[in-house]
Amino acid sequence: MRHAMKAPFIALAVALLPSPALAETLISNVNGIQVGADGKLQHFGSVLIGDDGRVEAVISTASPRVKKYDQLIDGGGRTLLPGFIDAHGHVLGLGFSALQLDLVGTSSLEDLQNRLKDYAAAHPDARWIVGRGWNQELWPVKKFPTAADLDAVVPDRPVVLERVDGHAVVANSAAMKAAGVTGATQAPSGGRIEDGLFVDNATELVTKAVPEPTEAEYDRAFAKAQQILLGYGITSVGSMSTALDDWNAMKRAGESGRLRVRFMVYADELKLLAEVPKPTPWLFGDHLRMVGIKFYADGALGSRGAWLKQPYADKLDTRGLRFHSDEELLKLADTAASHGFQIATHAIGDAANAQVISVYEQMSKEYGADRRWRIEHFQVVDPADIPRLKPAGIIASMQPTHQTSDRLMAEARLGPDRLNGAYAWRTVEKLGIPLAFGTDFPVESPNPFPGLSAAISRQDMNGQPPGGWIPSERLDFSQALAAYTRGAAYAGFADERIGSLEPGKWADFVIVDRDPSTADQQSLARIEVLQTWIAGKKAWERPSSAAAPERGK
Ligand SMILES: [Zn+2]
Repeated sequence: MRHAMKAPFIALAVALLPSPALAETLISNVNGIQVGADGKLQHFGSVLIGDDGRVEAVISTASPRVKKYDQLIDGGGRTLLPGFIDAHGHVLGLGFSALQLDLVGTSSLEDLQNRLKDYAAAHPDARWIVGRGWNQELWPVKKFPTAADLDAVVPDRPVVLERVDGHAVVANSAAMKAAGVTGATQAPSGGRIEDGLFVDNATELVTKAVPEPTEAEYDRAFAKAQQILLGYGITSVGSMSTALDDWNAMKRAGESGRLRVRFMVYADELKLLAEVPKPTPWLFGDHLRMVGIKFYADGALGSRGAWLKQPYADKLDTRGLRFHSDEELLKLADTAASHGFQIATHAIGDAANAQVISVYEQMSKEYGADRRWRIEHFQVVDPADIPRLKPAGIIASMQPTHQTSDRLMAEARLGPDRLNGAYAWRTVEKLGIPLAFGTDFPVESPNPFPGLSAAISRQDMNGQPPGGWIPSERLDFSQALAAYTRGAAYAGFADERIGSLEPGKWADFVIVDRDPSTADQQSLARIEVLQTWIAGKKAWERPSSAAAPERGK
């Protein structure tokens, strides 16, 4: 156990070594909480873990008399939960964005230059320096940065820094040279260039020159993503829209023993079909599996790309973007399903959701039960369409923090009369539709606790709005926790392996700093993970948390 991190292939280790390197572990004296198969909260006091990293027993008492074990860990009365499963995230996106230069909150041009200088010094191997998040409106002198401002700090390597809203980038001279931009370059229509600043349609002139990441950069981003996920207690992820380079980075990690989190992988449309023609078995000790294919039925609500049944309330000449005809989407889904893949389709607007439901209804007739068709986001839905999910075996894969982030925007886009089926978790739950929660990281933080808090309160981190937004759609704590554990495992065809602590399932769990089942909404959102365990081994620990006492409730 002392070198737990170095032995990720438990099954292999046990099979090859003459005597087991690992041993039975009893974790006693915990405030254990999980959701049972009946949907009710279960409390337990200890967990016995086998030498294969799977749960042997979940025991109600805190100091049980167990016949034998090789190692005893006193949980100190802390709260222990099953590992969280984020049903919908973008793994490499999280890693790459975390590795970029973060310029959010820069207070002046000098502040931006200092952060750029520090980042350049800390990343001598980065061929290009890519950053984002500056906003000159927050600076004392509200002037856009220029190429010369960046050249003064980094003259030798290309630098491109995106504004906080993504509508402008500033480039240094080396970046413009690499992109072939000269004084004679004309901005395309809808764009503008001035002193190294590229606005709107002109941004591509320079961003297209940023080189594709190397394998080593993919590996670094993947490692970073795993580290972030473990720190938030995420032990498994539904990896959405996974590109071939992402999949290859995951496989390389598996082959060299660097897979830590478990990944249920959904390929980016049909792009990987030539390389991965059918779902893989679970690989690398149940850490990696290509299980499905993700499609898109429409865009997003913020940019008015979500496809609505009626025009946008704040732009009456559009109903958004329809990505496929009914026949096209059915053909895509049928191709994927005929190869044995599970299907997950992005649908935000009520027209897109109705279309996807119709496609899945036809598919369920053709392919029979338990294909677990998934709708990703299921955000704005005609209340008349929601009861159609259950009979067709459709799963709603939703993100509670989108509701708190989108609330005011959704009201503007939809008007007051079309919010009834929006982010309608309780309605979904009451109809017995399988519900899986996630965050869509890096769009939102992968931290599951603000999501749990939003799910039971319909309020954001600051308690807004008072009483909650459409409070009839609030969930109970047990329902919200179930969607983040059991529900997300079911949604990824992994419910026999993960999602709860039960004999035979993996001992994936977290120890947190207070009891979420009794915490108020505000403190629930701020719960911190102290330790994350995967397959019965400590995979992550909050720095210096070892001696910290349990916080007051
Ligand atoms: Zn997504």
